[in-house]
Amino acid sequence: MNSADGTGGGGGGVHMDGRAAPLPRADIDGMKRRLHNHLRHSLGRGPVGSGAMDWYLALALCTRDLMVESWMDSSHRAYRSDAKRVYYLSMEFLIGRSLVANLLASGSLELARQTLTDMGLDFQAICDCEPEAALGNGGLGRLAACLMESMATLGIPARGYGIYYDYGMFSQYIEDGQQVELPERWLRNGNVWAFERQDRTVPVRFFGYTRAGVDAHGHESHQWIGNDEVLAQANDLLVAGHGCWTVNAIRLWSARASREFDLRRFNQGDYINAVAEQSFSESLSNVLYPDDSTSVGKALRLKQEYFFVAASLHDIVRRFRRNHTDFTKFPEKVAIQLNDTHPALAVPELMRLFVDEHGLDWQDAWALCTGTFAYTNHTLLPEALETWPVGLLGDMLPRHLEIIYEINHRFLERVRRRSTVPDDARVARLSMIQEGGERRVRMAHLAFVGSHRVNGVAALHTQLMRAGIFADLHHEFPERIVNKTNGITPRRWLHEANRPLAGLIGRHVGDGWVANLEDLRGLLPLAEDAGFQTDFRAVKRLNKEALSAYIKQSVGVEVDPDSLFDVQVKRIHEYKRQLLNVLHVVTLYNRIRDGDAGADDQPPRTVILAGKAAPAYYMAKLIVRLIHDVARVINADPVVAGRLRLVFVPNYNVSVAERIIPAADLSEQISTAGTEASGTGNMKLALNGALTIGTRDGANIEIGDEVGEDNIFFFGLEAAQAEALRHNGGHDPWRYYTGDPELHRVLDMIGRGAFCHDDPDRYRPIVDSLTRHGDHYLLMADYADYIATQERVGTAWRDQDTWTRKAILNVARMGRFSSDVTVMDYAQDIWKVSARLEEGETVG
Ligand SMILES: *Cc1c(COP(=O)(O)O)cnc(C)c1O
Repeated sequence: MNSADGTGGGGGGVHMDGRAAPLPRADIDGMKRRLHNHLRHSLGRGPVGSGAMDWYLALALCTRDLMVESWMDSSHRAYRSDAKRVYYLSMEFLIGRSLVANLLASGSLELARQTLTDMGLDFQAICDCEPEAALGNGGLGRLAACLMESMATLGIPARGYGIYYDYGMFSQYIEDGQQVELPERWLRNGNVWAFERQDRTVPVRFFGYTRAGVDAHGHESHQWIGNDEVLAQANDLLVAGHGCWTVNAIRLWSARASREFDLRRFNQGDYINAVAEQSFSESLSNVLYPDDSTSVGKALRLKQEYFFVAASLHDIVRRFRRNHTDFTKFPEKVAIQLNDTHPALAVPELMRLFVDEHGLDWQDAWALCTGTFAYTNHTLLPEALETWPVGLLGDMLPRHLEIIYEINHRFLERVRRRSTVPDDARVARLSMIQEGGERRVRMAHLAFVGSHRVNGVAALHTQLMRAGIFADLHHEFPERIVNKTNGITPRRWLHEANRPLAGLIGRHVGDGWVANLEDLRGLLPLAEDAGFQTDFRAVKRLNKEALSAYIKQSVGVEVDPDSLFDVQVKRIHEYKRQLLNVLHVVTLYNRIRDGDAGADDQPPRTVILAGKAAPAYYMAKLIVRLIHDVARVINADPVVAGRLRLVFVPNYNVSVAERIIPAADLSEQISTAGTEASGTGNMKLALNGALTIGTRDGANIEIGDEVGEDNIFFFGLEAAQAEALRHNGGHDPWRYYTGDPELHRVLDMIGRGAFCHDDPDRYRPIVDSLTRHGDHYLLMADYADYIATQERVGTAWRDQDTWTRKAILNVARMGRFSSDVTVMDYAQDIWKVSARLEEGETVG
């Protein structure tokens, strides 16, 4: 299985672009035979007339063959040893493409490349045929993908559970400078990486009513008579660990109409409506909600949440019962991680299975439940916290609402018993039911109380959880909240995404870093080495040329690879402050046009943004449009030609990220302090040798701890200062507007149509939000320091040797942010599972 590029970035004999020396003829001929075999027998085609898509499918099938063998092996190993398993429940898995990742994991990338090239085919074009598995919005879904890959690499028996959406994240097109969303039917040509399990279905009920009674032993019993049923069908997506020793699966459920329920309807004689209802129930898994920052509160969303939770728990319990006759060992064998509150209904669902279906008594069932679940919180933004109206939840899931009430009742009894003085306000804050107006279920409370561990995703975020929204719960359960700083998999985000850098690193310190990212510390002595610096710059230059070509082709703008590539790529959101970035661009524009002396010392810059706005998020879409209007004016102005460019790369997704990140010089991580839970884009960019300009927010702080204050550009208010300013009513944006002439001018230009003469009021709402409506994200307060810090960045860039040294130090010190480290921490502290290392491996 291991060929020349078996483990690393290339080893000896690798060219700068990451290509290895020619492989033996026999290997290439063998690969050719396998490709032709699949083309013929799996796809029913001959080589004549086969296009790139056919060759993609044939190559993917060859690669899958390798993976299936180790999948079977790893499944049997886990089954035989009855090892504890990790189940990762997530509404989103933002996987991206799989072919190159799997070729690398199985050590056959070079073999594939050389074989296809030898056949006169365009390897890159064939890889680009793969549709994007964009079953997620952003950071949360991408974290799920990184953790699944690390679990496989570490040999942890694990399975992901989620939804097999027909339509993943929308494609973003730009028309007249505005975002247009287009549906993306990513399964159009099937999916080589998933096995559809037509035979593996689970009935999931909705609506109906409950019946209380007494069972044969005289105990109180409850029954839920559902009124509606949908089948969940399993689709298993393979996830290969590095070296392909372990292959795990993500089981994604798709909705199928239930035969039993259909027959009832068809028998009523209304054929047309019965068919319509059939496709209605199948529409459940149709589409991913494209909003990652607000809780949408739609019934269909709640239905999706219960659908995948119910099917997954059924599956988990069934698998447990193959080896066990009772449930006493459930938490010893099963760890369930809830990725945010979207799967929080797993808590009442498991209680229902234990108590109603298997006759356990409540207290025993509750101990098993809390021993099994752990919950990851991803955001403190109030608008993103999920709550469901009691009426809606009780209608759709009547038994679950009863169980939630019972959990809450017992929990609040405990609270009252333990408190010395009665405090109704505190009890109300702790309650799972939010009173006042429409009564709603607080999903974060439910997930928190139902779990034995609750984690934040960066040190600051965890600290803010303890002090803020979870303060009362933290007081009740002081051991429960723990930190697990996010991480990224080095396989995708360096080994695959940046082949030139992976090759360069491999030539100097070997390839151990691919499985043990701390090995990058071997680069530390090379940071000062003039020869290594030159090679490092050459690699970055190569990546910038590649990105420039992509920008030319996708946006039509010519950019200069010698300019500073200043990159902000992430979802468009007010708290992430792409607008602050635009204010800087316009400031630079003015300074250059004014012939400002300071501007002459500044290097040429190419500011690159990318990201999607939620379709219903008005401000975010207006910001996308502003970026385009500003870009149009700046890029056409001869006065700033060669000194400033602004580019928006459309349709940001994992594959676009893999193109942009290796080419970045500067990483913009400029969220209002206290709003970005962790960030993982910050880690990807630093690992690829970009220096960070950022606030002391999320994982930026920990990145700063690792790389050293001299090698990162921090600016702006800290979280505590931002909080104090906002909540003591001390923020007076108007003061900054009137007090800073440069800011004043920039805002007036934007607000009065300097970038959109045809419609001068277009950006009035943006400027008003800053000057008149409170400037919630404190752009006005951070502007001056941001501009000053950007000047320091520009000055630092002028000294290329020092800049390169800092960039190398960033790469060398990113080991801590490998998702392998994150997973090891979850494994030891939360899941209590051991990673099984194969001979010779030293991960963790
Ligand atoms: C990593 C990643 C994100 C998260 O980026 P942040 O900067 O942490 O918000 C979002 N989308 C994609 C496609 C990613 O790869």
